Amino acid sequence: MSILRNAAIGTLMACVAAPTVMAATKSDFNYVVDRFADIEVLRYKVPGFEDLSLGQKKLIYYLTEAGIMGRDMLWDQNCKYNLPLRRLLETVYANYSGNKNDKEFKAFEKYLKQLWFGNGVHHHYSMDKFTPEFSRKWLDGQIAKLPAADKPSDLDTLMRVVFDAEFMSKRVNQVEGADLIKTSANNMYENVSQLEVENYYAALKDTTDLTPVSYGLNARVTKDAKGNVVEQVYKIGGVYSPAIERIVELLNKAKQYAENPKQAAIIDKLVEFYTTGSLKTFDDYSILWVEDTDSQVDFINGFIESYGDPLGMTGSYESIVNFKNIPASHRTEVISGNAQWFESNSPVDPRFRKDEVKGVTAKVITAAILAGDAYPATPIGINLPNANWIRAAHGSKSVTIENITQAYDEAAHGNGFNEEFVPDAAMRELMDKYLFITDNLHTDLHECLGHASGRLLPGVDPDALKAHGSTLEETRADLFALYYLADPKLIELGLIDSPEAYKAQYYKYILNGLMTQLMRIEPGKDVEEAHMRNRKLISEWCLAKGKANKVIELYDDNGKTYVRINDYNALRNLFGELLAEIQRIKSEGDYEAGRDLVETYGVKVDQKLHKQVLDRYSHLSIAPYKGFVNPVYTPVFDADGNITDVAVSYDEDYISQQMRYSRDYSPLTK
Ligand code: ZN
Repeated sequence: MSILRNAAIGTLMACVAAPTVMAATKSDFNYVVDRFADIEVLRYKVPGFEDLSLGQKKLIYYLTEAGIMGRDMLWDQNCKYNLPLRRLLETVYANYSGNKNDKEFKAFEKYLKQLWFGNGVHHHYSMDKFTPEFSRKWLDGQIAKLPAADKPSDLDTLMRVVFDAEFMSKRVNQVEGADLIKTSANNMYENVSQLEVENYYAALKDTTDLTPVSYGLNARVTKDAKGNVVEQVYKIGGVYSPAIERIVELLNKAKQYAENPKQAAIIDKLVEFYTTGSLKTFDDYSILWVEDTDSQVDFINGFIESYGDPLGMTGSYESIVNFKNIPASHRTEVISGNAQWFESNSPVDPRFRKDEVKGVTAKVITAAILAGDAYPATPIGINLPNANWIRAAHGSKSVTIENITQAYDEAAHGNGFNEEFVPDAAMRELMDKYLFITDNLHTDLHECLGHASGRLLPGVDPDALKAHGSTLEETRADLFALYYLADPKLIELGLIDSPEAYKAQYYKYILNGLMTQLMRIEPGKDVEEAHMRNRKLISEWCLAKGKANKVIELYDDNGKTYVRINDYNALRNLFGELLAEIQRIKSEGDYEAGRDLVETYGVKVDQKLHKQVLDRYSHLSIAPYKGFVNPVYTPVFDADGNITDVAVSYDEDYISQQMRYSRDYSPLTK
């Protein structure tokens, strides 16, 4: 529900800009690691790591090891053929002794790079299966050269996965009306229909329970021998046991270096969850975790976000290890310190507001490792936990990952985007001046206030919005941020120094939602990903509702379409109006109204405009998607085998890192 996925396209989407404290001089750090298909791989710095205490460094080291160790679980969750296929293709790659400039080999290498980036055979964002550009004959020839032991028993099926476009074609299908489970290729359900799963959970759920567990979060749903629908739980002794056992070992090592007893107790609780699979224990862990605001080092490790499940229940494995950027956290502390003011003054019906906003903690962090679903593509902001009742009773933790936004910004410098899509020189200047701060503020407001705001009416099922829940939740958080970006309160609080600054963010947001984000969609396709639907929904709704007064205009100049915003104040009021309606839908669980908004404004693509946008982008050298390689942490030992330091290095390339992870962190494929 609450990851802010990065746009990763230069300056055009939320939160890609530089942090406020960035040095004015460009560094000579080489951010770009690799470029293939629609992907650019960057590296990120971990400033401040050297200044941590030895204990903190050791804690981070073991947590990063635990994070990477879960990699195979995500691959398997994404599709049951991913792990055997990855193993086969990596073996072919490692055994290849021919000409590395051969066209077939080059195409194969590109496909393997795409697979690594998607954590499986499907694109991480579009969810569509990758299309190989090498021949079946070539791959058959390479496989024939492998030792017999390296040939998988289910080779025919794996070849179908690669070459049969219709087979396992979509990881997560969101097309209204289809059986979303049967038509999705992920591995969270097996041999069950959507209706069977919905009935199964409807029978489990007690709608009067005010503290419900996150049903299905850590389970695959299938049928037993008698045909009854059953859950198979991810835990020690259950599904993914070999990986979870290794993670628990490493968590226990990390615990020795916990900064304080509270943090040690959090690690213990997580270990208990991995051992028992109890969702109640997971809630206990989440509460301990959200209430720890003292530790500088922090981490996520578990089954967290549910975008990978068409029904939005099962969490994909993810880990981010990080430490607080203390000076930069001042900004978010001011925002969260005033959370109640923002809640009480929002345009939302008072019945749907929180009377008392509890414990919205916000900080700016430095990521030390990205793993599972946060790697190689990563969020730039996170707000957890996801359970609504825990958020209401215990608050939520909100973070902005500033060393990642900094890497995006520096890598995107001067990519030509503004010159192509922003015709007004004064607006370009305003964006140059204020996009970095308004991007960061948008992320802060979205994460620490937007997701944390509002309440459900008593008895409303938190999953009432079903397949549209993720989109509408992101819509709500974005609208909260957009509405308040223009509020004089931000100037009063010293967060921004100009009453004009917000216009840069408004312009960029609408431009992106109406036009430029289409560059991430393949020709002929509609918008599917939750955050993209959200941005389109907001932009298209405001275009339509403001039509009579020409609040926003799309106009043509020499065959190119541009966006003009005529009345920024009116646009802000439209954001407020839509926020009130989205909050009503969420608070009342009005599924039909939510679906209608998403289907009317958030999905359908204007094919002519789409073609034009793709065409204009093709003349710029901007990868639609970006992701990262991780730094490498190496413990330094003394003669007695004690760790005396942890060194961090940034020189590993993308292929080496992926191959190393497959070799050293692969408990499910051994
Ligand atoms: Zn969000």
